[in-house]
This record gives sequence, C-alpha cells and structure tokens, in this order.
Amino acid sequence: MIPYGRQDITEEDIASVVDVLRSDFITQGPAIERFEQAVAECCNAAHGIAVSSATSALHIACLALELGPGDSLWTSPNTFVASANCGLYCGATIDFVDIDPRTYNMSVDALAAKLTQAEAAGSLPKVVVPVHFSGQSCDMKGIRALADRYGFKVIEDASHAIGARYLGEPVGCCRYSDITVFSFHPVKIITTGEGGLAVTNDPIFASRMYRLRTHGITRDPGLMQEQADGPWSYQQIELGFNYRMNDMQAALGYSQLQRLDAYVSRRRELAEGYDAQLIGLPLVRPFQHPDTDSSHHLYVVQVDQGTAPVGRGMLFNQLRECGIGVNVHYIPVHTQPYYRALGFRRGDYPVAERYYANAISLPLFPKMEDTQQDAVIAALEHALTVPGK
Ligand SMILES: *Cc1c(COP(=O)(O)O)cnc(C)c1O
Repeated sequence: MIPYGRQDITEEDIASVVDVLRSDFITQGPAIERFEQAVAECCNAAHGIAVSSATSALHIACLALELGPGDSLWTSPNTFVASANCGLYCGATIDFVDIDPRTYNMSVDALAAKLTQAEAAGSLPKVVVPVHFSGQSCDMKGIRALADRYGFKVIEDASHAIGARYLGEPVGCCRYSDITVFSFHPVKIITTGEGGLAVTNDPIFASRMYRLRTHGITRDPGLMQEQADGPWSYQQIELGFNYRMNDMQAALGYSQLQRLDAYVSRRRELAEGYDAQLIGLPLVRPFQHPDTDSSHHLYVVQVDQGTAPVGRGMLFNQLRECGIGVNVHYIPVHTQPYYRALGFRRGDYPVAERYYANAISLPLFPKMEDTQQDAVIAALEHALTVPGK
C-alpha cells in the first residue's frame, strides 16, 4: 500500500533520541527549550511553547485568550475536530464559517457576513480559529482587518502548515494573529510521534501557556499570590494540565526541523508533478493563491461530478483496491453526530459539504518515490477513463 502520508525517520533522528535516553533528563530537560527556540526562530515568533499535541496547544491557547463559558469560538467546518473541540473544553459555544470554494479555507466574505449578523444580535465571537488547510495559509490580512474591527482574538491552526509562507513571511510569525499552533503527529510535516507547539509574540500569553501546560503552577515569585515558603516553593495559581512534551520527543522534533525546507521542497515537487500529470482527467486540482507558499501537507483533488465516470466513493474504493492509500479530508465537523446533537444540521455549510462530497487526498510524503507517484497517476487514469471512449 502506498500510504497517503508517512513520517521519515533518519539515523540522525534515532541518534538524537538515544542521546536523550542516555542523558540526565528524559523529560523537562534542555531538549524542550532548544526545540521551542528553534521552532520560534524558524517562524520569526518570540516564544514557543511545546506541548503533548496540537489539541492541547489549541486548548491552552484558548485559555490564554480567556475563552470561557458565555463566549463563542468560530472555526472552519473543513478541519479536524480538534479545531472546534478546544472551544468546548473551555465551556464556550462553537460556530462555523463556511469555506472558500477555491482554497477550501475559511471564507473571509462568509466571515464578514456572519460578523455583521452577530454584531446586530450581540453574539460576536471571542476567538476565531482559521485553519491553514493542506498547508496553504488563509487570507490572514482579511481576517486581521475583521479582528481589528470586531475585537476578536485569532488562533491560527497551522497543524498542516509549518514551513509554509504567507506574503513572504513564515506561517507562525503571528503578524496577523495572537497565537499559532502546529502539530507534530506522524502524518504532519515534521513529527515528534505525538506533539504540538504554540508560538506567540505576546509574553503574557506565552507565560500563561507555559503555566497551563504544567498544572497552572508557577515558580516565579513575581506571580505567586502569597509569600513563598522558601526557595523550594511553587504555587498553583490556576487550574492547568499535564500537557508537557518530553525530551525524547523534543530531540526528535529538533532533528526533524533541520530537514523542514527539504521536506517542503520535495512536497512541492510532488504536488507540481500531480498538477502537471493530472491535466485532462475529470478532477479539480488544488488552487494555489498567489499570496501563499503552501507546505503541501495534503494534495486534494475533487472528482468532477459532471464529467467523471465514477463518483468519489467508487474512486476511493478502486484506488484502495490497487494499493493506493487515499484518504478524505475532512468530514465537515458540524456533520459529526456529536455536533449535530449540539444543533448543527447537514446543509448548514453547503460549500464545505459540496467540497467534501467530491474530495479525495492523494498520497504525498517527502520520501515518496517518483515511481510511486507514477503508480498513483496510472491508477487514477485507469479509474477515470471510460473504456472505449
Ligand atoms: C492534526 C490536526 C490537529 C490535531 O493535532 P494533534 O497533534 O493530533 O492533536 C488539529 N487541527 C488540524 C487541522 C489537524 O490536521
């Protein structure tokens, strides 16, 4: 089976994890800070907070922005459930903004329209979470302008987008947002096994997130609410979690980060290979906005319902039968049973639903061989060409 995504682990990666295992600290040692600083530096952000997953990063990012009961968080329906669940963890309500039919990212026009209505109804969101789907940045300038006008905070879910750029700057520089979050799950651009990281330029949000990842405990006398008992003192000043990343993960992440540019270039090369070789097939190929340089986490095509001899479901089965590990990103979050029980219905976000009905993610990972890509293209040609036509 050619997988849709796969991690790449080198001998250097293994050696760097082994070094940690032989060292004095396997968690909360020096590898964490080194990794945090390296990621922050690579995306021109002031602070990096490494945690156990992007999900936990989203959760503590929401808390740092003081999202709570009575507030609402808006995100894209075309994302992994974590982008919405983080708001529910905080007791906030969730709402969605439909996507742009070309980029599959949150539509800024739809956001503007929904904000106008929400302002009239007195129900403006506190936090908006744009998701850089497939590694292509959202229209962050447009979102920033709306954030300034309506006063909401912005968390970029850049789980797909470490190594991507927007208007010449790295995603994660937080020029247009308060906090940006990355995922290091094995299918993502670089991996720590499980892991995530939040970057921000705001020292207050950063110190709040450092505290929340470890139980809400501070050792900073300046933040303690009472006189310290002694030099051993720590005080829990709010309710936090154990969301720490360990040093083995951080060492792996640091080692992987050295290959970020090479990974993104190879992904781009493969994406361009698909772009060129899928011409002529009844597929909608991904659109790249000129303001963006994608990290090409996913290569998604839509089956053209009008002209393709088979629909997405049939194509998916045929490709899987040929050993091509295709996938589908994403089932719109609001159509999940849990979210429907909260009151959402099919039909609420028609652009995301129409996109989902036809979408299929083709294999794409840095160690994918050209011959594997040729096999994927040949299988697509076979499935999408009507015999005798
Ligand atoms: C993978 C992913 C997440 C969650 O990442 P974890 O590190 O697995 O918690 C969140 N949002 C998006 C868009 C993702 O793709």
